[in-house]
Amino acid sequence: MKVPLLDLKPQYQSLKKELDEAILRVAESQYFILGPEVAKLEESICKYLNVRYSIGVSSGTDALLVALMAIDLQPGDEVILPTYSFFATAGVVSRLNAVPVFVDSDPVTFNISPEKIEEKITSSTRAVISVHLFGQCADMDKIIRIAEKHNLYVIEDGAQAIGAQYKDGKFAGTIGHIGCYSFFPSKNMGGYGDGGMVVTNDEKLAVKLKMLRVHGMEPKYYHKMIGGNFRLDAIQAAVLNVKLPHLDSWSAKRRENAERYIGQFIKAGLADSTGRKEYNNNNKILLPEAVYKSNQVKNYHIYNQFIIRAENRDSLREFLSKNEIATEIYYPVPFHKQECFADLGYSEGDFPVAEDASKKSIALPIYPELTDEQIDFVVQKIAEFFN
Ligand SMILES: *Cc1c(COP(=O)(O)O)cnc(C)c1O
Repeated sequence: MKVPLLDLKPQYQSLKKELDEAILRVAESQYFILGPEVAKLEESICKYLNVRYSIGVSSGTDALLVALMAIDLQPGDEVILPTYSFFATAGVVSRLNAVPVFVDSDPVTFNISPEKIEEKITSSTRAVISVHLFGQCADMDKIIRIAEKHNLYVIEDGAQAIGAQYKDGKFAGTIGHIGCYSFFPSKNMGGYGDGGMVVTNDEKLAVKLKMLRVHGMEPKYYHKMIGGNFRLDAIQAAVLNVKLPHLDSWSAKRRENAERYIGQFIKAGLADSTGRKEYNNNNKILLPEAVYKSNQVKNYHIYNQFIIRAENRDSLREFLSKNEIATEIYYPVPFHKQECFADLGYSEGDFPVAEDASKKSIALPIYPELTDEQIDFVVQKIAEFFN
């Protein structure tokens, strides 16, 4: 049985008529950049996330970049962020000649460890970027408390977490000053190309973000600040306008798949339902944990990725690949060990939790259309590997 890591075709088939019509509508209109489709998406996202302002941009990376430009990040300023994330989280800081300051991860959620933020704050610190990795919120209460105490901006990298909710029900990306999302095709709500979104409840920031998106221009050809071309195109927005009403049901399917994996792994004796944080005799693998799980909050985890950990991850991966089960490593190298950040002076051993995660984590297929048979097959093959 073939199990791909992600298969976008069934989703396309299920919405083909509406999607094709939406794309053709843009072609007929010949209105390709921003315009009514983008405005409609922005309005719908505001309603869905219960946030005042949303601004469609060209990618998740550009969402982060324009967010940092909107807070006037200056060369030499420091931005605190987790060492374990996708490259864009750190790359945007360096591109503005500011300094990314890395922090270790929480051993259960892989999100930034709030306990380790304060020791990194200096007189140059301007902001914290909290990443909601794999579809589960970082511990925002603690992060906001520290940020308020030290007068820092909080930028949320919600690229993997659109629609995920924190323990109080607030949506990932709407808790700090600016939230950033990605519509890269493999994210939970993917466009048909690159795209992204920034959201905020702060009117001043919203005005700035909107101007920065079009070269800092307002009115036309009068430039109040230096922005860039960070515009979202109409075809992406048209596709996303079709998809947004389905996002919650896709997230629910991902959660169901995750629950099935967890149940089957426990049944197969590969993991126990308690003590998931430590390896022991009952624990060949560590399972992901939804730490804000509750009956009050629907999207406590939206499983953009389903990550397990195993001591012999690489040989497990090879074994699964031989059995036509695709997996991925998110991420094999934390920021502090990346060649491009060598001049920041970090070394091996600086962030033990992230280093351990980078060596043991493996992502299993989790997309909504995955069948129970495929999930059971993956579990069966992993059991076979360990036996
Ligand atoms: C995907 C991703 C990004 C970048 O989004 P793009 O749309 O690909 O530019 C940023 N941060 C995280 C955590 C991501 O997963």
